[in-house]
This record gives sequence, structure tokens and C-alpha cells, in this order.
Amino acid sequence: MRECKQVIHGDYVATPIKNAFNHKTAYWLSKKNCILAVYMFTVENCSSDDVETMLSENGIQAFVNLLETKLNHNQEVNSETEEQKTPVLDATTSQNQSLEVGDFVQYMNCGRLMLVDINTDVCPVCEEKTLAWADPNNPEISLSGEELAAAGYELLDRPSYENTR
Ligand SMILES: [Zn+2]
Repeated sequence: MRECKQVIHGDYVATPIKNAFNHKTAYWLSKKNCILAVYMFTVENCSSDDVETMLSENGIQAFVNLLETKLNHNQEVNSETEEQKTPVLDATTSQNQSLEVGDFVQYMNCGRLMLVDINTDVCPVCEEKTLAWADPNNPEISLSGEELAAAGYELLDRPSYENTR
């Protein structure tokens, strides 16, 4: 069996990853500080010479271009979503036990997304006690306005929020 090594060219790294199902090894190209990777080739489908060529500094260039295209596209998608943020009603009060964070919740009765005082069960608007965590992947999360903004939400006061409904 051939030994597969990780190959680094500057900020780019080609990493061999063994497929758990077919036991073949594929190379993936990624970049320093980026979570995105592009598929390069499967080792078992190539001759040793081909593998060497594709892992050379010139050889990875085509995959570098593909990776950069994908990275740029992701950035565009991110800036698009930033332009249309999801409104969240800032219903935190001076009673909140934290000055910075609140609970990010959605009230099932009215559907309002809100940042409320920590441990608030009852909807501050319609006083119904039916709430769900706004982000099911991050239940029981307490967030600040800045953290919400970074996640694509916009914290609004009551009149501004009601205007968006
Ligand atoms: Zn409500």
C-alpha cells in the first residue's frame, strides 16, 4: 500500500482522507484558516506519477483556483444575507440579570422572535407562555445584540419590530 502524506504549498494544504466505506484515499485541498475544502482526486484511481504531478506546486494550481472561486462565492452569499437581516424584538428590560445578554426565543403563540430577559417564560407582548428556543441548534443560548447581528439578525425596538410584521 502506498503511503499518503499531507502536502503543503504556502497557505494551501492537500490532505489525504481515507473513505470509511470504500477504503479508498482521496486528496482534499484546503487553505490556512478556512473550513472549506475541494476534492482533488482518489489515489487508487491514479498512477504514482500522476499523484506526484497533481501534488506538485504547479499541479495543485487548478484546485487552488477552484477553491478560491468557492471561497469568494461564499463571501458573496454571506454579504447578501447580511443585507437582509432577520428582525428580532429587543424585549430585554432593566430587570434583566445581565447587562449584555438575553435569551433568544420565539413565542409560539404570536411567532415573535425576541431577545428577552434571561429566564423569561411569558411573552412580554401577548403574555402567553409558549416559547421555543429561536435557534434549535443552540438551545438555551444567551446572546448579546452584537452576537445576534453577527449571526444575521437585527435587534429592533418595539415600534420598528412591529413595522416589519
Ligand atoms: Zn407573543
